[in-house]
Amino acid sequence: MTSVPAYTATSATEPLVPGVVERRAVGPRDVRVDIRWAGICHSDIHTVRGDWGPVPYPLTVGHEIAGVVAEVGSEVTRHRVGDRVGVGCMVDSCRECENCRAGREQYCLNGFTDTYNGKDRDGRVTQGGYATGIVVDEHFVLRIPEAIPFEKAAPLLCAGITTYSPLRRWNAGPGRKVAVVGLGGLGHLAVKIAHALGAEVTVLSQSPRKREDGLRFGADHYHATSDPATFERLANSFDLIVNTVSAPLDLDAYLGLLSFGGTIVSVGAPPEAVPVTLFTLFENQRSFAGSKIGSIAETQEMLDFCAEHGIAPEVEIIPAEKINEAWERVLSSDVRYRFVIDASTFAAA
Ligand SMILES: [Zn+2]
Ligand SMILES: [Zn+2]
Repeated sequence: MTSVPAYTATSATEPLVPGVVERRAVGPRDVRVDIRWAGICHSDIHTVRGDWGPVPYPLTVGHEIAGVVAEVGSEVTRHRVGDRVGVGCMVDSCRECENCRAGREQYCLNGFTDTYNGKDRDGRVTQGGYATGIVVDEHFVLRIPEAIPFEKAAPLLCAGITTYSPLRRWNAGPGRKVAVVGLGGLGHLAVKIAHALGAEVTVLSQSPRKREDGLRFGADHYHATSDPATFERLANSFDLIVNTVSAPLDLDAYLGLLSFGGTIVSVGAPPEAVPVTLFTLFENQRSFAGSKIGSIAETQEMLDFCAEHGIAPEVEIIPAEKINEAWERVLSSDVRYRFVIDASTFAAA
């Protein structure tokens, strides 16, 4: 076991503070990663604040990790010391269930191991990426292509794959009309990816204030949902709507925007149940679906796709001491469009 500097939550209400996390010794199939960049995801905040259930403190969060391989176990074949790599929301799964065997680890029937606040194979609680290092089984470590600016790579490991997976699954591409609800950390990547896939992309954002950004990211159209006329004007027009908003939405209103056979897929979720009037599903044979991150193979495919198409998130780089302030800004939607922590500042803290 080794201890590495980290930023840690000690309760649901106190600010994060400098601390350390323990990492296991590198096993035969393990990769030790020196973390260089750690993205801030809204899930980090939900978890620490207890929104999704009780949490064992102290807890170090962070599941958007970019770093350099520092050490590999004797049986590791996929990564070498010095490689640029990433770790996302999963660090293990059962590897035996139907979904794991089919390469869908994110739907592991025994539950995958979350990068933080999960139960590791040794029974300890997993600790995430707001730290200078992490030890992960090589299967759950991704290659970050050279074409992706290193400091921008981390958010792809959660926000990127969470939007890429449903866009691929529901065939975003040429001739398809795709709407993205919400232009935040997930939404802005959804727009860039959907555009690169060749779809006709529309942003549906609460207000008109991000219009220029939306169009710059590759959207063909932008509509403010605060204007009720938007829902009349766009009725029956989209093949796919990707909902990235985690606040409750008037789902019936958005379902009405789907054309024949269209699907709305939610990747952001409010904790409470969402009412749907089935009659709006009957019209146009509409579907309402969900999607959870993406598999390891698909995450690699997404990283390679982003490298090929020059896609990277818009990021604001911060030192560790600004994390608490950044969290407040995430909660008030005051970020364009993802915070990334410079991990070298964990050691100095
Ligand atoms: Zn996340
Ligand atoms: Zn499994």
